[in-house]
Order: sequence, then structure tokens, then C-alpha cells
Amino acid sequence: MAAANLIDGRAIAEQIHAETAARVAALKARGIQPGLVFVRVGEDPASKVYVGMKGKTCARLGLASDTQVLPEATTETELLALLARLNADPKVHGILVQAPLPPHIRAEIIYSSVRPEKDVDGFHPTNVGKLMLGDTTGFRPCTPAGVQELLIRSGVPTEGAEVVILGRGEIVGKPMAAILCQKAKHANSTVTICHSRTRDLSSHCRRADILIAAMGVAEFVKADMVKPGAVVIDVGVNRVADPAAKDGTKLVGDVAFAEVQPMAGKITPNPGGVGPMTIALLMANTVRAAEMATR
Ligand code: NAP
Repeated sequence: MAAANLIDGRAIAEQIHAETAARVAALKARGIQPGLVFVRVGEDPASKVYVGMKGKTCARLGLASDTQVLPEATTETELLALLARLNADPKVHGILVQAPLPPHIRAEIIYSSVRPEKDVDGFHPTNVGKLMLGDTTGFRPCTPAGVQELLIRSGVPTEGAEVVILGRGEIVGKPMAAILCQKAKHANSTVTICHSRTRDLSSHCRRADILIAAMGVAEFVKADMVKPGAVVIDVGVNRVADPAAKDGTKLVGDVAFAEVQPMAGKITPNPGGVGPMTIALLMANTVRAAEMATR
């Protein structure tokens, strides 16, 4: 898929991994090993895959990791008790509670019970608030922070740029907007957020210098929605039918890649764009948590 306008998320994630591994080595020289604990409730197949991939990357970079698997029927009280133990354990620098949680568990209670200093996913209200305030001492959610890194490391200027974000989800769309509208270097964008109630969504898209799709709607963004030369970032992950595939399915993004790529100035492939960056930022956040805890 070699093309001049591709933003290679895998290669950029590897650059970040190399920087993270060097920081891990510096911590190890002081007798500290960064530690990340994954908490998974139930047997959601995608969650198993994601946690497995993240655990492998921890091992590759020299972070200690552990996965706590709890049965689907776990109560909120039991999960809170586990989080209290992990919050108190000095060897645990980062805690990641994998979404989705079973419906009987209130996600907002769980995410606000991880100590903000260990909330490497950036979902604790303290970290969400710090992001809104432009306070860089907090942790930022890994996927939108990864998108910003992709833009920085691909030389895409954001200052004054018209950024249109498709989706106002808590994990991607909203924090993405908060990151890029900050009065700060690598931000300073004019941000529009579109969602299911947006009128004439295509006209917003066509204005975008940078179009970020984070809706979870397979191949929604078509060529006629993209301004020629725009930078297109595809965050979506959608499983669709594919009779040619072994299991009869394949993963596609929110962008109709084949028709949009020729129009775009730069574009992320999907897979191989935003996904690897999410993991890279998670590792970097965990190492930062260890650095801050042991200063
Ligand atoms: P979410 O919370 O479900 O939010 C989806 C957003 O898209 C909502 O704001 C929704 O509007 C909007 N939307 C849905 N259909 C629409 C339509 N037809 N027209 C306009 N707006 C529409 O999702 P999320 O958690 O933010 O995730 C978004 C996507 O990113 C998913 O595909 C997810 O799998 C993917 N993702 C990828 C990574 C990665 O590492 N690559 C990480 C996280 C998420 P309303 O608010 O009006 O309902």
C-alpha cells in the first residue's frame, strides 16, 4: 500500500516505542520497572485481543504488566475493591480498565475510582478537567493524543487549521476537540464537532483542512465529502462482512479509503494508522506515570 500521501502509523508508533524504551532503561537504571495492570471484566472477544496486544507491547518495551480477568457477574463493589488494591500498590504505575464493562457496572463510577496519577487512559474526571483547562500535568486519552502525535510527526500544521471531527464520543471525538482547540503549540485549530444531529454534515466536512472520522460507521466518508488536499485521519474500527476472508469478516475504518486516498493531501491507512498510536501513547503514559511517581 505504498503511496506518497500515506501517514504510516506503524512506523510513527515505532519511533515513539524507541523513545519509550529508552525512558524505561533510564528508570531501570534507578531500580524502577514501570508497571501496568489491565482489568478485564467478562469475555468480550475484541477486549481480549486489545489487552493481549497491549500486554505484548509492554513485554517488548520492558514494562511489567499483569491482566486481572474478572467474571462477567462481578459486582461493582468487587471491582472497586480490586481498584483500591491496585491504587495502593506502589509497583503499579498505571491501571487500565478495558471497555466495555458489563451493563450492571456504572462505568463512570469505575473510571473515577482509578487514582488520577495511575489513570494512564485519561478518563478520570480530574484528567478530563485538566485536558479542558490546558493543564499538561494530567494524562490525555491515548487515541486522540495519538492522533495529535501523528499530525505532529507527519508535519501537518494545526495552527489556524479548520479541523472537523466526526463523532462526539467520550473516548475519541470530545477529547480530540479539546486537544486541538487548546491555545498551545501543535493545537490552535478551529474545531467543529459533527454528530448524528448535525445538519448538512457533508458541507462541514468539505471545509476541513484536517478531517478526523471517529464515528464507528463503516466507510462513511466518501470522496465528495473531502476537500482536495485535506488531511484525513480515520479512527473508526468496524467489522464488516467479507466473503473472501477466512472468518467471513474484515475490519474497515470510517473512511472509504480507496476513493478518498486520491483526493487527500495525506491520509491514514486503516488498519495501520491510528490503532498502533493508541498503544504507543498508552506505553508512553505509563512510563510517565512511573517517572512522576518516583521523582
Ligand atoms: P461513540 O462513543 O459511539 O461515538 C460515536 C459518535 O459518532 C457519536 O457522537 C455519534 O453521534 C456519532 N455518529 C454515529 N453515527 C453517525 C452518523 N451516521 N452521522 C453522524 N454522526 C454519527 O464511539 P467512540 O468510542 O468515540 O469510537 C468511535 C470509533 O473509533 C469507533 O469505530 C471505535 O471503534 C473507534 N476507536 C478506535 C480506536 C483506535 O485505537 N483505533 C480507539 C477508540 C475508538 P451521537 O453522539 O449524536 O450519537
